[in-house]
Amino acid sequence: MKLSILHYVVAFIVIFSTLVFIVLFGRLPAFKGTIVGKAHILLWKTIPAKFVAIDRKLTGGKLYAASSKWADYLVNDKNWAVAIFYSTVLTVSLFFFFKDAWPRIYNPLHRLIIPMVAFQPYFYLYLSAFTDPGTITKANLARYLELFPYDDIIFYSDSAECRTCHFKKPARSKHCSVCKGCIAKNDHHCAWINNCVGYYNYRFFLGFLVSNLGVLIYGSYLTFMVLFNEYKAQHFPDGTDSAPKYYWANYRFWILLIHSRSWTATVTSLCMISTLVSPLVIAFLAQHILYIHQGMTTNESEKWSEVQWVANNGMLEVYENREDEDSSEDGSSASGSGSDSETRALHPRLQALQSARPKPENQGRKVHIYAYDDGSFNRLPPAGMVKTATVPGLYAVVNIYDRGGLFKNAKEVWFPKRV
Ligand SMILES: [Zn+2]
Ligand SMILES: [Zn+2]
Repeated sequence: MKLSILHYVVAFIVIFSTLVFIVLFGRLPAFKGTIVGKAHILLWKTIPAKFVAIDRKLTGGKLYAASSKWADYLVNDKNWAVAIFYSTVLTVSLFFFFKDAWPRIYNPLHRLIIPMVAFQPYFYLYLSAFTDPGTITKANLARYLELFPYDDIIFYSDSAECRTCHFKKPARSKHCSVCKGCIAKNDHHCAWINNCVGYYNYRFFLGFLVSNLGVLIYGSYLTFMVLFNEYKAQHFPDGTDSAPKYYWANYRFWILLIHSRSWTATVTSLCMISTLVSPLVIAFLAQHILYIHQGMTTNESEKWSEVQWVANNGMLEVYENREDEDSSEDGSSASGSGSDSETRALHPRLQALQSARPKPENQGRKVHIYAYDDGSFNRLPPAGMVKTATVPGLYAVVNIYDRGGLFKNAKEVWFPKRV
């Protein structure tokens, strides 16, 4: 059998979506040790290392230097390459849809809805890309600091200031090296929209995902129906009433149909692309719905997974001000909580900190510290604070940014406060 252009399209789509899946999800712990996880290592570590070694022999590393400069530009600088690639793929697909499928859709309701659905991704791409995600400046810092309180678990009120911006980082914010600024409630930097997804444009980013899913699912439905109508018209011109039971499942008839006209091949390609890309968008959207449900950003989910690990291993400790401040005057260092000193000798620096006077601004503050097995800490507790409890597990930790479930958190996402 002769290979038609369609075979190449199908092969390309299958290979491309497999690679995208491995690149995007292969790192997840669920795939560790599986073929997906191994393929991810192959793609990200083994093959690049081979490439570098061959290049070093052949060109003395020139190719690597040039390509890493390009990769650096694509990853570390604001640029529209990915957004333009995306818009081009969407526009070309829509062009072929309107050329080959649209004339064969007769239902006026579809003809009304299609242009509206097709337009949405451009609209949300524009809004997500050109809305300020919440760039923090010296001028608006004070107001951003009031937006979210520090929880002293994943955001500490006394953490170091941003090394680039030179100011105190508000809770939930994160510096973006691509956007070159601290962004309020920074979810992640997204190359597709060439912008950070933050406090003010997260809603538009969600709109972008939903509108893309709308185009993909609606598009795969419409293209399939156009093909199916043609299938019936070609193979059962007298109607399907007297047709065999599974008349719609004849593999040979489908192949004949796809090759029968040039437009059937195009519409089949559109149908396959939209059907195969849909699961990727569904996976992204499901992940974000889960984050909203839990009241966290992508950035925070990484912090929470570390907290989960230390808490479930009994290494998350709560530090508070000493109840009785006078005791610090007399036997301060000797007071050492008996049971604790048996399990682990206190780090000398920690001992000094604990015997210091608590600072008045820390009154009533509860600080969570990770204590590792070797006696080291992820950070030292503020001076004068002592260990009051060990967290038994993540269930005992409160996420103060969770407003109480999916709908309340979604409301906060959709109606951010003016700062
Ligand atoms: Zn910064
Ligand atoms: Zn950014």
